[in-house]
Amino acid sequence: MLFLPKLINEEGLRIDGRRPEEMRKFRIEAGVLKNADGSAYMEIGGTKVIVAVYGPREAHPKHIALPDKSVLRCRYSMLSFSVAERKSPSPSRREIELSKVIREALEPAIFLEEFPRTVIDVYAEVLEADGGTRTASITAASVALADAGIPLRDLVAAIAVGKVEGTLVVDLNGVEDQYGEGDMPVAMMPKLGLITLLQADGIFSSEELDKGLLMAKQAIYRVYEAQKKALKRRYLEIAKEVSGAE
Ligand code: ADP
Repeated sequence: MLFLPKLINEEGLRIDGRRPEEMRKFRIEAGVLKNADGSAYMEIGGTKVIVAVYGPREAHPKHIALPDKSVLRCRYSMLSFSVAERKSPSPSRREIELSKVIREALEPAIFLEEFPRTVIDVYAEVLEADGGTRTASITAASVALADAGIPLRDLVAAIAVGKVEGTLVVDLNGVEDQYGEGDMPVAMMPKLGLITLLQADGIFSSEELDKGLLMAKQAIYRVYEAQKKALKRRYLEIAKEVSGAE
């Protein structure tokens, strides 16, 4: 017999004890890799993602270059040990699709027109997956882009809301993602109030869509604060290194 866990208990709490609007514990660090131009790490519950950014740099192969703007290339990939059953290291259809989704969520934030004929590469590696890897990748990638000194209109912060047993919940974990009725990842440029990604898997009524978006926005503002703090910590670190070297 198939065992389906109860996702919302009698007190209205979720499988990991959270209230519906409660996010998992999370942290963001900027500048975690020495050899990349920019980098960031995000941990949210059991999900761990590291992102490296290179560029803007000369385009290879040359024919991909554009005369009026930089080309943003994104690669999302899950490490073999990031999920319970070893994942094949070759890119799956899902990883190829998520690479595109992540690129489209980031593109509106970058002043690509300032760097014609160049490429900006973003590599998101999922170290551990427990739901919300695309939103963590987008969040960390925008911090890594800022860490690389690439001019941005705003950071992009992302979170997923979903529906489990008829209740709207923020920041789905892996089990909720797998057994819930719906999943709606949202990415925003919070200061500009612009949405750069809105996906919906499952069926949401228009009221649920409105409420879900509101819940996502509240969580996104918290993520945004943590992104800015991570960058500030990194700048202070660099300032200290520079003044120490003088
Ligand atoms: P997201 O991670 O952005 O929520 P999905 O909704 O596609 O993206 O995936 C939800 C979750 O399902 C992932 O975070 C991960 O925990 C799990 N998952 C995805 N791919 C695999 C896989 N190949 N093997 C095991 N679990 C997976």
